[in-house]
Amino acid sequence: MYPRHAHETNHQARTDEGTRGTGRRDFLRAGLALGLAAGMAHLPFEAKAAEKDEALARYAERLFFHEENRNELRLQALQARDRRAAIPNNNRPPQKRVPQFSLPANTAAREGAIRRVDIEGKEKLCALTFDMCELATSTTGFDADIVVWLQDNNMPATFFVGGKWMRSHERRVREILQDPLFELGNHAWAHGNFALLSPERMREEILDTQCQYEILRAQALRDRKRFRIGNEFPLPEVLRYFRFPYGRSSDAALNILAELGLEPIQWDVVAETGGNNASLEQAKHVVDAIKPGSILLFHANLVPRGSFQLLRYVAEGLRRQGYRFVSVGELLAMGKPVREKEGYFVTPGDNAALDKRFGVEGTGR
Ligand SMILES: [Zn+2]
Repeated sequence: MYPRHAHETNHQARTDEGTRGTGRRDFLRAGLALGLAAGMAHLPFEAKAAEKDEALARYAERLFFHEENRNELRLQALQARDRRAAIPNNNRPPQKRVPQFSLPANTAAREGAIRRVDIEGKEKLCALTFDMCELATSTTGFDADIVVWLQDNNMPATFFVGGKWMRSHERRVREILQDPLFELGNHAWAHGNFALLSPERMREEILDTQCQYEILRAQALRDRKRFRIGNEFPLPEVLRYFRFPYGRSSDAALNILAELGLEPIQWDVVAETGGNNASLEQAKHVVDAIKPGSILLFHANLVPRGSFQLLRYVAEGLRRQGYRFVSVGELLAMGKPVREKEGYFVTPGDNAALDKRFGVEGTGR
């Protein structure tokens, strides 16, 4: 499961008969084609749009089957893009503000956010979750190391994406959507604090994010046609899961989520600390805290330091103990959710001080 060399993984991906292997291959092709789309503008030929698309698809196809080209492009992605704050900030609301799709009410949400799942038979399962937070006043990054590593190791994960973050990283979201390993959840528009926001503003933070997802989902479906990605797995019409920014919750927030049909998902294990996380000591601390049915909180927006190294240590430790990684959706299907009304990191009240640290309603403004 943890091959030493990249080419072993690639070989594995090719010989994998399952949907997952195919999806991953198509994902890479999509990433490639999207990356090329920008580069094609410089090609010294004039062609009609349709012919250009045709040429692009053929070019991407050819490159994909040449390992060295593919690896080079992935390296470019790792080195040149996705650095934190490399993108100009844009605090305007999304292009549309009323989502096309909605969910039936979820009354269970009133009882609290899900912190973990009680697994029948205590099978060693846990869910890796990664938050992509972004305040109104600044942009954050995209941790390509983490995402590529998850793909190389065929590890499912759930990303809780801020709506504004999705827009700042539109191309990356379009790529993630083509990979069946990954599941997306809503992490509010600009990281609003749900212990402070008015009910009206809570709805905006949630629904603006649902709208941004719809915009990018429609784009991802167009990408499938345009780049002949060939993925058949359905893209969910709507994000079903929600994560409270700062872990801050309130009864009013839980009621609104219940009404809008979203499921609040917390964590029972916080992976990162405020310091440098690339240490075996921190990894041991995290691994020791895991139980069957645990939900782990990581970040993949390049804000905490050392997340990628910590992830590798933690995954290796858990693998040695016989743990298997599943998405939040799969974990919920395996047992009974454990809910709590109060949102916190490790012990109740440990995040209340954050109410005063991040500007208006937690959004940084
Ligand atoms: Zn966050």
